[in-house]
Amino acid sequence: MPATLAVTKGISILREYGPPILNTTYKDVAAKKQLPRLQGPAGSHKSGNDPHIQGRAIDIILFANIENERKCADEIVDVFLTVREKMKWLAVVYNKRQWNWAGTEFPRGGDLISQHVTHIHIEWAMAFSATAAWEQDLIDELKSRNWG
Ligand SMILES: [Zn+2]
Repeated sequence: MPATLAVTKGISILREYGPPILNTTYKDVAAKKQLPRLQGPAGSHKSGNDPHIQGRAIDIILFANIENERKCADEIVDVFLTVREKMKWLAVVYNKRQWNWAGTEFPRGGDLISQHVTHIHIEWAMAFSATAAWEQDLIDELKSRNWG
């Protein structure tokens, strides 16, 4: 499935107004090559109802065990939480924590992949993924942060 509007707009706004590190690549161990940090499509390991396959999720690669990347990721998560009511995302996951559509935080367990220690995952329900009326709100919030 093609990426939804929420995903394509989200990626382009993060690329332009987010921290500069989002425009860099990282060495992906499994793929054995440099990959972009902003990813919409799912890798080959995903299938079926996966929100990436359905084009309604973004992964933002920022390693939680690297301090400057984790700080950056925590700030991005805070931006998503701040603009939550406008963005109408379904879930955000990062570094052993997850937030539901209401902004309530829960611990994220499971294996390392499930814990999301390498990337922020943000997804929209299909019903809210076809529009992105929150573009300016996200831009304004990203611009208001000091990305160092
Ligand atoms: Zn994901």
